Formats: sequence, C-alpha cells, structure tokens
Amino acid sequence: MDFYNIKTKVVGVDISSDRTTYAIVDIRGNILAKEMFDTSKYPDVNDFVSVLSERIVKLIEANGGYESVRSVGVSAPSANSINGYIEHASNLPWKGSIPMAVMLRERIGLAVGLSNDAHISALGEHAFGMAHGMRNFVTISLGVGIGSCFFSEGKEHHGNFGFAGEFGHTCVEDRGRLCGCGHRGCLETYAAAKGIVMTAQEMMTALDEPSLLRSLDKLSPRTIAECCDQGDNMAIEVYRRTGYMLGMGLANYASIVDPEAIILTGGISHAGKWLFDPTKHSFEEHIFGNMRGKVKLLVSELDDDERDVLGASVLAWSVPEYSLFL
Ligand SMILES: [Zn+2]
Repeated sequence: MDFYNIKTKVVGVDISSDRTTYAIVDIRGNILAKEMFDTSKYPDVNDFVSVLSERIVKLIEANGGYESVRSVGVSAPSANSINGYIEHASNLPWKGSIPMAVMLRERIGLAVGLSNDAHISALGEHAFGMAHGMRNFVTISLGVGIGSCFFSEGKEHHGNFGFAGEFGHTCVEDRGRLCGCGHRGCLETYAAAKGIVMTAQEMMTALDEPSLLRSLDKLSPRTIAECCDQGDNMAIEVYRRTGYMLGMGLANYASIVDPEAIILTGGISHAGKWLFDPTKHSFEEHIFGNMRGKVKLLVSELDDDERDVLGASVLAWSVPEYSLFL
C-alpha cells in the first residue's frame, strides 16, 4: 500500500423527515464542510438520491476530491444496517423498502454504510460524546418517536433482524393510547412529541383550572416547556406525568441491560428539569433495587444535528473500502 494514499476523510449523511444533512468529516471528527436541504421537496426517492449524490460529489470535489475520501455513512429512520434498506419508514416521504445503500453507492462510487438514526446517535455519542470510553450504555432519542440503541461490552447490539432497541413500542399502559404501530399503550404515545401534546389536551379537558396552555396558538413539547418556565402548574404536571412514564420505561430497560449510563438525546430532552427531574424520580423508584443509585441518567451535550452526522462518519469508517474487484 502506498502510505501517501491513505484516505483521511469520510462523508456523513443524516436523512431526517424534515431535512437531509451531509458533511465531510476527518478522522478526528472535525466537520470540514456541511450542507443541508429539505427532504420533503423530493417525494420520488429516485429524484432524492440523484440530488443527494450530485451534491455529495460536488462537496467531495470541493474538499480534496476522491483521493482523500474513503467512504460514506448514512443515518436514516427505519434503516436496516444488515441489508442496507430503508424499510417502511413512517415519517419519510417514500413508501416500501428502499435499497438506499446500493442506490447511493452506484451513483457516488464509494462504499456506503447505512444504519438507523438511533444506532447512529449511539455511535456519535460513543466516539465524541458522553459515552466516550463506556462499554455498556444506552442512548434514547426523544422526538417524533422514541428510538434507542445499546452497547454491550463495547459493541452495539443490532438484534437478529436488525430491530433491536424499539423502546418506543414497549407497552407501559395495558390497553392504553393507540399507537401508530397498531398496538395500544406504547411508551411513544405518552413520552414522544404527540403523546406529550395529548396529555396536555386531556388535562385541559378534564380540569377546570386556568392555565397558560389554554392560550397557546400551538401546543408542542417546546411551548409546553415554556409554560413550565413561567410557573404554570398544569404544564408542569404534563411533564411530571410524561417523566413518570418515561422513567418507568427506562427502569425496565436498565433492569435488562444493566448499563453504566442512559443518555437522553433529541428535541424533547431539551425540556430540561421539567422532564428530567420526574423522569429521574420515577427511574429510581422503578429500577431493580441492586442497581438503584448506580446507573447514570444523563442528557447529551452534543448538538443533535452534528451528533448524527458524526455518528454516520463513524459508520463510514467501519464499512469495507469500495473496490471494483470486490
Ligand atoms: Zn407502538
């Protein structure tokens, strides 16, 4: 091997329902160039892949060219790292099973690795965030849905079919709220964005007391947290109930996995103490006694966008380098 031809950069891509971010990242995790565009502008996946590939090739050419770029890592919802497909993603514009890794590889001409956003978050947190140096930990992403990933003995656990960590679809309330997955009582229906809004709506209907929530133009996890900041009792109670459910779910998770830490990520983790304190309280209440007070419950300090691009870059380093002769 020619020593001087060692490639020192990869491309990290994060495909989300609202936007797609792609970046050139060096071996130390420095983002050298980053761009993004609106995912929902491309209802046809072939158009999306063409545009994304062209943009990535341009970014590679503007940042040292193919000589220095080794491979591509991609994060997407409902992505299966075993076969490289995005499978029936409920919040992306494209239906069915999409062979995203192969489609991108053919157009870009580099090796492409694909994994789901929850796993990518964990890779980013492990390489560059709070889980650095940990061998057993869990990351939880709290947003439109609830994803998770856990590392066991230093390696991420994918499961037999590639679906490990579907924490949002574990049952916390028998015959509870109807979930998008078709079941009832999934954690997601209480502790993800729509669930928090539903709790607020239910409380406004059930109770007579005045609340700032009643005057909001738009109920969202963020606006509800803003009402908490102003001392609104009903808003605080919405997050207390949310934290109770989340903490109970996390205690179940910890009791099975026995992690050093659980790291909360995603938009809803930014609700601060209004969510964190009741979650921690419920977590310690429900966790198996021998683990009580030992498992760290943490909130990620990485920027949400950057973590996924960085995590995708970690994945990129792990895929075998592309060769026409492989
Ligand atoms: Zn569900």
